[in-house]
Amino acid sequence: MRSVRALYVVVVTVSLTVAAAIAQQPRSGRPSRNRPLALVGGLLIDGTGGAPIRNSVVLIRGDRIEKVGTTVSLPVPGGYETVSAEGLTVLPGLWDLHVHLMYAGHPDARYWFATYTSQFERVIMPASADQMLMAGVTTVRDLAAPLQPIVAVKKRITSGEIPGPTLYVAGPALTKGANPNAVQTWNVSGAADATAKTRQLIDAGVDWIKIINAEQLTPDEMQAIVAEAHARGRKVAAHAFSESEIRRGLIAGVDDFQHVRTQTPEYPPDIVALIRDRIRNGPPLYWTVTAGGNGQLNAAYLASNPEFLDDPANFLGLPQPIADDVRRAIAARTQAGGGRRGAVQSQEEINAIVKHKIAQIRDLGVQIVFGTDVGSWGEVTAQATWMEADLWVRELGMNPMSVIRAMTLDAARVMGGDRDSGSIADGKFADVIAVRGDPLRHIDVLREPRIVIKHGRRFK
Ligand SMILES: [Zn+2]
Repeated sequence: MRSVRALYVVVVTVSLTVAAAIAQQPRSGRPSRNRPLALVGGLLIDGTGGAPIRNSVVLIRGDRIEKVGTTVSLPVPGGYETVSAEGLTVLPGLWDLHVHLMYAGHPDARYWFATYTSQFERVIMPASADQMLMAGVTTVRDLAAPLQPIVAVKKRITSGEIPGPTLYVAGPALTKGANPNAVQTWNVSGAADATAKTRQLIDAGVDWIKIINAEQLTPDEMQAIVAEAHARGRKVAAHAFSESEIRRGLIAGVDDFQHVRTQTPEYPPDIVALIRDRIRNGPPLYWTVTAGGNGQLNAAYLASNPEFLDDPANFLGLPQPIADDVRRAIAARTQAGGGRRGAVQSQEEINAIVKHKIAQIRDLGVQIVFGTDVGSWGEVTAQATWMEADLWVRELGMNPMSVIRAMTLDAARVMGGDRDSGSIADGKFADVIAVRGDPLRHIDVLREPRIVIKHGRRFK
């Protein structure tokens, strides 16, 4: 079905309009409703970090996990559709807390917005959402997008009209001094305006607030944004590119910093002191490190393994001309040496600094959060999640069980969703995947889930 549609799109390339019209008919988000389902016989990693359970049985009824046990403790009752998970590892659906459904990995954001903004809502965001779900990612947080399109896509996924992960969205990032015509940022002017814009975003349905370029904002504007968000039960994410925006963010009480950048070799003593203070007095400080994205840890690999980009699976659901455009641009960028635009450091220096700074904040007690920056250049939407997990194990030296917990229950806690999601437990939403092999030994088996179930519905 997918390949037939993909081929059809390839053949009918007379115009972007025609291709876009076809892409507007995605697979239904409503696969036929399952009978109660029993996943039987797999090794269960439940997301809590606890010991894996052999010969597991997971009973799913409606959108929830009904009961979890083993083939000995929980015989499958009559009337269940039994799906064998023999040879597979059963896990909670994965979470990715830094994605951009509006991008597709193209390195030139200016070109991307100029060329494709009108296709975000109907073509590109639905394709990204579908790719992520097929990659086993059942919940994402989209951090920066034009407001109306991302809220509309969230609604269409929630209603089952199109397939995709459960979506938490920020809408446009709040900032100052950005291009006033940009669709993915809103400029604020003064504390009252900062409060009003934050309120407007929340009223429109956003789940988180995102701030970028905090060094451009006054302390009053920062405080106003954070106070309004917290008063309405929303948390605030902010870029951590420059040291001054990190200082501003810590003083204003930002919840979750985004990215680790390499302009300086490590965080300086005054920022370390502010972080220590925050860890001591709370509330929790999160940091979504996005180790692979934006020409960091994945760039050297992409530069030396260009065949990776030719995999048609990377761009499923995108009209062929758009997929070709992205592929060509990434190839040109990686061949030009990869790395970040304007970076004066070598790839080795960039990678060493990323690793050092992540170690520095972890040592201070900051909880690092799993997110990829999917869609930023070098973060191919269909593959970024497993690649980031692989970097955490191989480059950051974390054990695979902790990485899986970071991708599931820990992520759900950051989002305040752990009562209903994030682990495989009686009564939680049935967001369940199964992969061939043992991710505790080879984390990259996460790349091709055999089974993807979201809210009790089987998508793969
Ligand atoms: Zn981002």
